[in-house]
Amino acid sequence: MLDERGRDIRYLRLSVTDRCNCRCVYCMPEGGVPRRDHGEMATFEELRDIVRAAVTLGVRKVRVTGGEPLVRRGIVRLVHMLAEVPGVEELAMTTNGTLLAPLAVELRDAGLDRLNVSLDTLDADRYRSMTRCGSLEDALAGLRAAREAGLGPTKLNCVLLGGVNEKDIVPLAELARDGADGELGVASVRFIELMPMGACASWPRERFVSADVVVDEVAGLVPAGQDGVTQLYRREGWRGTIGLIRPVSHGFCKTCDRIRVTADGMLKPCLHSRAEISLRGLSGPELVAALRQGIAAKPARHHLGVAHASATPRSMNQIGG
Ligand code: SAM
Ligand code: SF4
Repeated sequence: MLDERGRDIRYLRLSVTDRCNCRCVYCMPEGGVPRRDHGEMATFEELRDIVRAAVTLGVRKVRVTGGEPLVRRGIVRLVHMLAEVPGVEELAMTTNGTLLAPLAVELRDAGLDRLNVSLDTLDADRYRSMTRCGSLEDALAGLRAAREAGLGPTKLNCVLLGGVNEKDIVPLAELARDGADGELGVASVRFIELMPMGACASWPRERFVSADVVVDEVAGLVPAGQDGVTQLYRREGWRGTIGLIRPVSHGFCKTCDRIRVTADGMLKPCLHSRAEISLRGLSGPELVAALRQGIAAKPARHHLGVAHASATPRSMNQIGG
């Protein structure tokens, strides 16, 4: 379906929990999030019905996210339910990968097509301090298991933190040398600009660096087109790609083709807007109408670059990236 600005909305990001087994410094408070009643969260059936309704409006790609989607109990069953929805052409998941190894085969068998794994460093100590409690070894085991399960090609997401992980840019980028054929099966390494929201909203400006720094650090990158909101680069002799996702320095609202649903069943037409529409308790034509209303009124753009602040009161673990 086209929104009022002619953008064709085909991509739904579905958050299935706001909880996580990690506490990334830029995403979650150190003490985690207050426990919420099960009744406050959308049920599997509600999430499936939202996907069914979204498909009738033209959505073709669904990404399961969180919080950490793999901490939601019964996640394999939910993936299976979503994969069965006619019209879903691609079912993907974004995960920190640390709980993935034992689940990769089951997720593939349930119908998951692809994975994005978030990994901000290849240094075990830095990984622990950036995630506050995660293990790099577990994340790498998850990547290997995904590759062995044929759950690929995997994309890696790396958030850039000025003064923290610039030295990781080259080692992470080098995972694209062998691409999907490499040990970790990484077809694309995407560097993402830190967005000022939630835990990091009040951080000093020097933490927020333009992803252009990647082109300075990794020699020989040449532009290779666009994949959704990602500006792609190639390097001669490398099988995989490098991607830059630059919401702050460049903005890509004109080509934004996505909507989001939070784990408590709120439709967010724009990541950085306060606007939300409750989908809880709706079904059939009412649910379709609410989604249609949200898509039509999708805000034209965010104002991160100007205001250096997101307008959403939610933190990223509540939205899903
Ligand atoms: N737990 C999963 C994971 O880490 O991949 C899925 C949810 S996480 C909120 C989704 C993505 O959002 C991750 O790649 C994470 O690095 C990114 N993210 C979180 N906070 C961010 C921020 N303030 N700016 C930019 N990206 C952020
Ligand atoms: Fe958890 Fe992902 Fe947020 Fe890290 S970025 S705290 S893994 S939800």
